Amino acid sequence: MKREGQIKVDSENLFPIIKKWLYSDRDIFIRELVANACDAIKKYQSLCQIGEAENDNSAPKIEVILDQEAKTITVSDNGIGMNEEEVEKYIAQIAFSGAQEFLDKYKDKTDAEGGIIGHFGLGFYSSYMVAENVEIETLSYREGSSPVHWESNGSHTYEVADGIRTEKGTSVILHISEDGKEFLSEYKLREILRKYCHFMPYEIFFTAIKKPSDDSAKDDSSEPAPLPKPINNTSPLWLKAPKDCTTEEYENFYRETFTDMNLPLFWIHLNVDYPFRLKGILYFPKQTDKLQVMPGEIKLFANQVYIADNIKEVVPEFLMLLKGVIDCPDLPLNVSRSFLQNDGEVAKISRHITKKVADKLTSVFNNERKSFESYWDDISPFIKFGCIKDEKFYDKIKDIILFKNLEGEYKTFAELPKQNDKVYYVSSTEIQGQYIKLFKENGIDAVILEHNIDTHFVTFLEYKESGTKFVRIDSEVGEALRSSDNEESKESEDELVKLFKDSIGKEKLTVKVENLKSDDTPAILTIDEYQRRMSDISRIYGNMFGSVEDAAETLIVNSSNSIVKKLPSLDTEKQQLLCKHIFDLALMSQRKLTAEEMEGFVSRSVQVMTLI
Ligand code: ADP
Repeated sequence: MKREGQIKVDSENLFPIIKKWLYSDRDIFIRELVANACDAIKKYQSLCQIGEAENDNSAPKIEVILDQEAKTITVSDNGIGMNEEEVEKYIAQIAFSGAQEFLDKYKDKTDAEGGIIGHFGLGFYSSYMVAENVEIETLSYREGSSPVHWESNGSHTYEVADGIRTEKGTSVILHISEDGKEFLSEYKLREILRKYCHFMPYEIFFTAIKKPSDDSAKDDSSEPAPLPKPINNTSPLWLKAPKDCTTEEYENFYRETFTDMNLPLFWIHLNVDYPFRLKGILYFPKQTDKLQVMPGEIKLFANQVYIADNIKEVVPEFLMLLKGVIDCPDLPLNVSRSFLQNDGEVAKISRHITKKVADKLTSVFNNERKSFESYWDDISPFIKFGCIKDEKFYDKIKDIILFKNLEGEYKTFAELPKQNDKVYYVSSTEIQGQYIKLFKENGIDAVILEHNIDTHFVTFLEYKESGTKFVRIDSEVGEALRSSDNEESKESEDELVKLFKDSIGKEKLTVKVENLKSDDTPAILTIDEYQRRMSDISRIYGNMFGSVEDAAETLIVNSSNSIVKKLPSLDTEKQQLLCKHIFDLALMSQRKLTAEEMEGFVSRSVQVMTLI
């Protein structure tokens, strides 16, 4: 016998409005329905535990069945089930009024925010985003219950009738609408099941009943059907105690979860019980680009149900460079992004994750410094980025930040070689080879900071550790490189300066004569540290502050070099030729020559050789 009912909501029909809202996230319907199925099984198990229900010892099971011909998707569970009264109450009232409430809250928000709201579910009602009609077949676990059939097209009436189910549990049958037909594709459905349900806690089995016209289906039927395998992993590694997990398990889990051909370098397993529950694994991925940091992927779950990637309110922004999973069952998920932003609890979660990451890194540093050093080059861009983005993180880990010196040894900030509070650094061992040689010959050390992030990081360090200056190895000629005895007279120095300035013909170039300790280099070019840093930053962000050429260059002519010593005795033509050549050689140790400069250099080289 059929009974009709009225759904108690204000809007004539919620469906068109909600559909418009959540259009981009329609695929979450599958998560909502399968998560409801998990909840129903869990409720039944809890009742058995407390003796409220008699355990029938059936294995928990969720089935998703795609019937392309009937154009239906069915999500079926053997959980708690519902009797008629419960269907009226939970589905007709709660699910529909939940949808109404959701809509009332968010209908004034912009579309941009609509996308994110979609991540946080609408429950059962979301099935109307893809279905024109939804049926429920359900049987309550209570002894003596009768099966119930419920049906509604999402408007405000529904029908209840006697059902056909013989086993406790619920089947939700979606009759897919014309504009939801993409979900009738087996590939698409498998894909969204993988995305949202891959780590759900009960086994999920997927069956696709193909159209009879489909040839491949016929071929298959001649072979014995393989044993059905669940499509999900019901006990993801993050739930296991960290001390019981092996390296292989961490690596396999990484490969299973992220499409990355490389193995991760290092990982941190989070396992927090207090003041909130949080579990997860954060991986430091291998960097394929030596200069740039690639964006990562942090998947957020609530009780093994996938919510979304990269929710920056929950996960500290700098950790977005990592790849990982975070399961936080206490997250208030039925809320909008603006709520998450203002929620103190959520901010606490984010701070706590930062603290845990800092603790773990510190413990590896303290207990296994050698292996920490072996990861350092790869993980340092993440850590430096983290420091710049979050000073609290820096304050926690500043003592374990490492700097590689010219000998390839790793030093902490406190252990760093400093010259009067100056730290010399190399930004390219290739280009700055001449300076490195000079430094080594004179027993001065420098640190190697070759990553793009280092340009920002040294500025950040100077601000945090005031008093220390970072100076690139080619920015100045420090005291340590100068010889104390100055042989040159003021006049001959001025003469050399004029000679170089006139020959090179660069208005902005400053020329100085210095007596360097090392005599085999005729001249070196220095570029003011701060102007150059501005140019570097501007190059990274597009020319905002002028180009490299604008930084003040100084040519330091080495008066102890034998060619320089000979210069004054040569004729003008040779002097000019050699001055230009010495300048180009110095320039090459700073940067690559432009095509035009290179052409000049090569043809001049031939002339220089003819001087023999
Ligand atoms: P929520 O799950 O957030 O409570 P829903 O709209 O998804 O909201 O569902 C409303 C209610 O309907 C649930 O709280 C539950 O009581 C009931 N329900 C939904 N799906 C099932 C199911 N598969 N088995 C049993 N009860 C269900």
